[in-house]
Amino acid sequence: MKAHQLHIYNTISRKVEPFSTIHQGHVGMYVCGPTVYNYAHLGNARTFISFDIVFRYLKHLGYKVRYVRNITDAGHLESDADEGEDKIGKKARLEQLEPMEIVQRYTLDFHEVMNAFNTLPPSIEPTATGHIIEQIEMTKQILNNGYAYEVNGTVYFDVEKYAKTYPYTILTGRNLDDLLSGTRDLGGQDEKRGRLDFALWIKAKPEHIMKWPSPWGEGFPGWHLECSAMSRKYLGEEFDIHGGGMDLAPTHHTNEIAQNTACSHHATPVKFWMHTNMLTVNGQKMSKSLGNSFLPHELFSGTHRLLDKGYSPMTVRFFMLQAHYRSTLDFSNEALQAAEKGYLRLMNALALIDELPTHENGTADFTAISDNIYEALDDDFNTPVALAHLFEAVRLINSIYAKHETISSVQKENLSKVTKSIVFDVLGLMPEKESGADKLDGLMQMILEVRSEAKAKKDFSTSDLIRDKLKSLGFEIKDGKEGTSYHII
Ligand SMILES: [Zn+2]
Repeated sequence: MKAHQLHIYNTISRKVEPFSTIHQGHVGMYVCGPTVYNYAHLGNARTFISFDIVFRYLKHLGYKVRYVRNITDAGHLESDADEGEDKIGKKARLEQLEPMEIVQRYTLDFHEVMNAFNTLPPSIEPTATGHIIEQIEMTKQILNNGYAYEVNGTVYFDVEKYAKTYPYTILTGRNLDDLLSGTRDLGGQDEKRGRLDFALWIKAKPEHIMKWPSPWGEGFPGWHLECSAMSRKYLGEEFDIHGGGMDLAPTHHTNEIAQNTACSHHATPVKFWMHTNMLTVNGQKMSKSLGNSFLPHELFSGTHRLLDKGYSPMTVRFFMLQAHYRSTLDFSNEALQAAEKGYLRLMNALALIDELPTHENGTADFTAISDNIYEALDDDFNTPVALAHLFEAVRLINSIYAKHETISSVQKENLSKVTKSIVFDVLGLMPEKESGADKLDGLMQMILEVRSEAKAKKDFSTSDLIRDKLKSLGFEIKDGKEGTSYHII
């Protein structure tokens, strides 16, 4: 096997760069997690699946990785301009629940979706509400360093002052003057001094539920601050990789860099910035307002009007890997159906490997394919190219199985080791077993058949007994014209 040199596209340099770490053998990686005020959406799922591949491949290469992915459970307002309601507070008000009930419900949903996609849990999953003290401390430090000011209980970051010393737009490379002219004028009532200033700490209105005491009165942290405070706490003042969706780069990540730098004076708190691209549906941007955005559950069950049928989580994961994480990914029924076939072909071939006969003078050579797979992954985690090479391995396996080619035991061992570790450990695909739900349904159908036979024989005591026993177990059955159905009470 050739030596590895992993290359990663770095948003900050706009170049593919050779990857190296700050501390030899260790990688610190932070990825912005979900705001848990609603069901996990597919765009988020794609981002976290992409970083799951990054996490898995770095571990495969032998790095010790500390992967931090936060849960935003407070402070994320509806608008990036420090306006609107707290997203979680608003949902809590609408549903008449405690904000923490909203957080619990959607955190569980998020974890369920992540499990279904077979993503590994991060090393640490910190929450914003669990790090209020760190956020207050960071705000104090930025104030002490002169890059923030307080107005009436709210603390703002002074972007223009910061930009005199540090390149505020370093991440996106945008021109600061263009940015300023593109921002609306401050109204006379505005507390902010500069148009690009953003809140580190926000004074809570009396009706605001999620608030904490601070040196500036009762309030809550700004959304950008939590990621700075938590990444710094768990990964240090400088760390290796920071990731998220590309929509986060212009504001959220730009402000994160400014906050970290204003605290520590490190102009580059993060070495590699990685951003994932968006999803499209039949060529159109996926968005709620266009009615073309479906939830992972809808994709699995096929219950969205744009879907012909449901697709299993592994089919969807395979489908996502067919596009590079920096390219847009287009959902269509045809593409998903093709992915389903491709995924099954790959799994079937892997299941055949152990059965392949070996020959002393085997003709098949897997070495070049193996090198190509690694070369693709080393090239900024290029999963579509790696999959294309894996399908060369599939052709080889099928050809040996059909006895058109032969393989030596050394080559077979290599073929087995590399394909299985890449597919299962790195790409995170796994064979799909019959799910528990399918088995339960099969069992219920059998019980209902026994019951209808009893009824046909006029053995009503048995049929009633089955009905009552099922009811006590939580299954309600209904006799109708088209047979008997059941539902879980
Ligand atoms: Zn973040």
